[in-house]
Order: sequence, then structure tokens, then C-alpha cells
Amino acid sequence: MNDLTFGIIKPDAVRAGHTGKIIDRIIADGFRIRAMKLIHMTLEEAEGFYAVHRGRPFFTELTRFMSSAPCVVMALEKEGAVKAWRDLMGATDPAKADEGTLRKEFANSIGENAVHGSDSEENAQIEIAYFFSQIELV
Ligand code: GDP
Repeated sequence: MNDLTFGIIKPDAVRAGHTGKIIDRIIADGFRIRAMKLIHMTLEEAEGFYAVHRGRPFFTELTRFMSSAPCVVMALEKEGAVKAWRDLMGATDPAKADEGTLRKEFANSIGENAVHGSDSEENAQIEIAYFFSQIELV
């Protein structure tokens, strides 16, 4: 299986009209988009996606935000996809993100930080399967 990761263009970035610019950056960075769709998560769907963070102080804020408006979910392929996508995203807190990263350019705060990326290959498989069926991966 080729290296895959899972990404989200979060509601803040979609709302601000950055979707196209972020997709351009993903393609320019050498990722192949294997699946992509615009969705509007329910609170329950966001809670299920972020279940590992249940109990963290920001869980309610995070799941409310992620279910507040549409976002774009994606399966991305590249050699070393998990790390490559996290490198392009930048640090969780945009104030600490390197120049040239998506969070540096597009994120507003640690909570509303423009993009999500899987933190391991195992979680990438789980997260892709949460939103896409096998037949949706092209
Ligand atoms: P990531 O892998 O870089 O997205 O970071 P984490 O896995 O640590 O956190 C998941 C998501 O929870 C982040 O992308 C943020 O949207 C949110 N988050 C993390 N830390 C905080 C925080 O201190 N406050 C708030 N409001 N949200 C946070």
C-alpha cells in the first residue's frame, strides 16, 4: 500500500475562503489527492473523530468548532505522507509554526488552526476509514 495520510481543511479556513489556496499548496508539495469531499460534521461525528481527545480541557471547544461549519476531508498520498503532511501543516499553535507552513499562513489560533493531519500511519488508516469507503479512494 502506498503511503497515505488523512487531512482536513478545517471550518475556519473554509469559511475564510482559503480552500482553493490550500489545495494548490497540497498539489504543489507533491501529494496525490486520493479522495476529497466537503462535509458538515454533526457534533456527534466530531466527538467520534476526536474521541482520543475526550477528557482534554479543549475537547468541547474543539468538537463544537469542528461541527460549526463545513470542512474538507482528504486522503493524501505521498512517500512518507504522514510526516510530509504534518511538515506542510506546521506546528499546532500558529504562533510557533515555521514560515512557509499552512498554519503560519492561514491559521488564527491554536484552536482554529486551519488544517488537521494524522499523527501516525495507524491513525491515518483509522481516520480515512472514518470518512471514506474503499470505493471512494481513487
Ligand atoms: P495537531 O495534531 O497538531 O492537530 O494537535 P493535537 O493533536 O495536539 O490537537 C488536536 C487539535 O485540538 C488541534 O489541532 C487544535 O485544533 C485543538 N487543540 C489542541 N490544543 C488546544 C488548546 O490548547 N486549545 C484549544 N482550543 N484547542 C486545542
